[in-house]
Amino acid sequence: MRILIVEDEESLALRIKNVLESEKYQAEVAFDGESGLEKALTEEYDLILLDILLPRLNGIDLLKEIRREKISTPVLLLTAKDRIEDKVAGLDAGADDYLTKPFALPELLARVRSLLRRISEVKTSVLSAGDLEVNTHTHEVKRGGKPINLTTKEYAILEFLLYNKNRVVSRLSIAEHVWGDNFDLFTMTNFVDVHIKNLRKKIDDDREKKLIQTVRGVGYMIKDEA
Ligand code: CA
Repeated sequence: MRILIVEDEESLALRIKNVLESEKYQAEVAFDGESGLEKALTEEYDLILLDILLPRLNGIDLLKEIRREKISTPVLLLTAKDRIEDKVAGLDAGADDYLTKPFALPELLARVRSLLRRISEVKTSVLSAGDLEVNTHTHEVKRGGKPINLTTKEYAILEFLLYNKNRVVSRLSIAEHVWGDNFDLFTMTNFVDVHIKNLRKKIDDDREKKLIQTVRGVGYMIKDEA
């Protein structure tokens, strides 16, 4: 995890850097807004800790600039100003969280951990295979960036196949997963075939690369590489 600290108070910046490094994060410091912006635009970070009152370019303008450049790295604002309008301006400009100075370093670390956890949760909410993407929070399905509409059952089957990507999933386990085990599983496994057929029409037809594979006598599998 790489963290950028943009803070002009040198001793504070270095204390933050040290505590982050002691927690095994990689940390870099920029002491003014302009060099912070340059780093944010040219290098990749998992999180930016950003002071508001900075020489050359203030934190809010820096933040607006990186969001304009479509950089979505989470930003935790650090500022001595405890004025409500600054918080609003910061959040409006695209900050993810806010910490008012003076703060205790353990509090900063707790915020950092929570922001990084939030990002990794958002990251893992998208399952993919090839150019197929499934967002498990919104249930949006896209292939090659184009949205695909699925029924609830089709979605459940696809999500289950993706959770088991590159592994064969039996028709029985798909049936159990989607309909529960209160049904006649023989009938349900035939339902699985019907739904897979429909799913293929939506996902794989007209595509060169077929993602859903039949493993004869066993079940189905979704693979990254056809
Ligand atoms: Ca400052």
